[in-house]
Amino acid sequence: MSDETGQESTNAAEPPIQVIVIPVTPFQQNCSLVFDRRTLQGAVVDPGGDVERIRQAIDGHGVTVEKIVLTHGHIDHVGGAADLAAELGVPVIGPHQADRPLIARVQEQAASFGLSGARPVDPDQWLEEGDTVEFAGRVFEVLHCPGHAPGHVVFFDRELRFAFSGDVLFAGSIGRTDLPGGDHATLIRSIREKLLPLGDDVTFLPGHGPASTLGHERQTNPFLQ
Ligand SMILES: [Zn+2]
Ligand SMILES: [Zn+2]
Repeated sequence: MSDETGQESTNAAEPPIQVIVIPVTPFQQNCSLVFDRRTLQGAVVDPGGDVERIRQAIDGHGVTVEKIVLTHGHIDHVGGAADLAAELGVPVIGPHQADRPLIARVQEQAASFGLSGARPVDPDQWLEEGDTVEFAGRVFEVLHCPGHAPGHVVFFDRELRFAFSGDVLFAGSIGRTDLPGGDHATLIRSIREKLLPLGDDVTFLPGHGPASTLGHERQTNPFLQ
C-alpha cells in the first residue's frame, strides 16, 4: 500500500497514509512513522530506541505526532517510548495490560541483551480486543494476539487492508516463543483465529523484516502448514 512496505498500490490514487520504516536497536526493529499524507498528522509505532533517528524522520517529513502506539512490551519495541513521549509531549497507547510485567522489567530486558539507555514507560492507555485507536487520520482495530508476548496487540485498518503486526507473524516466519510469557500453541492460535481470517489480501508490516500479505503467509509460511 506504500513504497515503504514494498507493496505496489493497485489504486490509481495515492494511499491516504504513508508509512516510513525506521529500523531501530541492534534488533533492527521496524519502528514506523505513519501519517496522513494530507494533514501530516500521525503516530510512531514501536519506538524501541534510537530516539534521535526517529526524531530526524519526524522532522524530515514534517510530521505532527499525535501519539505513540505499542504492539507489545519487548525492549526493541518500547525502549525509546518514554523518552520520545516526553520529548514530543504525546500519550503512549497500548499494548494490552497483560504486558505490564514485561514493561516494568524493561531495564532488566535491556541488561540481558547488553543494551543501555532504555527507560520504563508508563502507558496512558492499555488496549483490549475490540478497541479502536485513531491515528494518521485512520481508525485502527485492536486485535489481542498473545503467544509471542501475553499482551501483544495488532493494529488493523480494515478499509485499507493493512496491519501493523509486531512480532506475531513475519514474512516466512513467526514470533519466537522462548521469552518470558511466550507460548507456541497460543501464538499459532492467535495467527489462525485472529490474523488469517482478516483476509488473504491484507498487507502486514511486521516488527522485523519485510512486509507480506496474509494470503502469501497462509500458503507458504512453513509454520502454518
Ligand atoms: Zn517481541
Ligand atoms: Zn521485536
